[in-house]
Amino acid sequence: MNTRIDQFAHWLNEQSIDTAILTSTENVFYFSKFYSDPHERLLAIVLFPNAEPFLVCPQMEVETAKQAGFEQTIIGYSDTEDPWDKIKKEINNRTNTVHKIAIEKSHMNVERFETLLKAFPSAKFIQAEEKLNSLRMIKDADELQKLRRACELADFAIEVGVNEIKEGVTELSVVAAIEYELKKKGIEQMSFATTVLTGPKAASPHGSPDLTKIKKGDFVLFDLGVIYEGYCSDITRTIAFGDIDKENILVYETVRKAQEAAVLASKPGITCSELDLTARRVIAEAGYGEYFTHRLGHGLGISVHEYPSVTETNELVLLEGMVYTIEPGIYIPGKVGVRIEDSVAVTKNGVEVLTKYPKALQFV
Ligand code: MN
Ligand code: MN
Repeated sequence: MNTRIDQFAHWLNEQSIDTAILTSTENVFYFSKFYSDPHERLLAIVLFPNAEPFLVCPQMEVETAKQAGFEQTIIGYSDTEDPWDKIKKEINNRTNTVHKIAIEKSHMNVERFETLLKAFPSAKFIQAEEKLNSLRMIKDADELQKLRRACELADFAIEVGVNEIKEGVTELSVVAAIEYELKKKGIEQMSFATTVLTGPKAASPHGSPDLTKIKKGDFVLFDLGVIYEGYCSDITRTIAFGDIDKENILVYETVRKAQEAAVLASKPGITCSELDLTARRVIAEAGYGEYFTHRLGHGLGISVHEYPSVTETNELVLLEGMVYTIEPGIYIPGKVGVRIEDSVAVTKNGVEVLTKYPKALQFV
């Protein structure tokens, strides 16, 4: 058995939970190495404190799941079969009592939950996410390798985007150029919708690219990431096109100082809160405090947003193996937006910056 399954089984034992039925693509992948979005069909990994886990997937995906490296039992079901009948039978083969079932309460839909209730009418349902999130928060060597590669590809994507900056080119055509080059490198999917925002549009942290044309005197903000073998990267760079006015350069340099201060402060033992405040103070002292409107960063891995959440109120202590983003920004509505974001991994003594595209203000 692999250590992830062992660690989770240990928790099930401690909590006297009889079985866990996990149905999110991410957590199924975490335990089985099988990454699949089955749409409305059911995909599940079922785990036990002392028995062998099994995977449930559409019949047509059984071979792919085996090839992905899941070595235990795989139960396939056809479109005319009810997978829950098979799940119930397999569970009853492995355990005599089903009093407590762990599920992902924030993921499972009501329809499936009602089916489970019918199958196990006397069971109590326990939230599995807290434990899953804390397991996934510490990355092993193999995960770090994948994240490094995902970040290298994100650096490359920024380079492609920067080379596309020309007078009159639209935001969406830059997005298309970036994604085209990544597809040619074998990347099927981005971590999230690639963002290219120009001029005052960059002042909206979650704005969407459209047919707005890039013009001289504007910043161009790139926010993107790729999924490499199931692991997400996340990077933001803000690039100057032509001459930028002095005030905007000051905004850029403030964000860069804040970002670099938080990178330097990152190490085991510091809390998420201290880290957030390290960057926030730099921005506040420069007089832009009210324009930094979001948390400093978020964990990333199989999901592009996962634990830890780097906020000014999270007292969680950083540990070796955690991977998160550092992404302060200043957004002055209608005027200017600057964000600089790296993905970083906590090491024994400090931090490894996984995204390496330069941060000194670049003029194109
Ligand atoms: Mn991010
Ligand atoms: Mn981002």
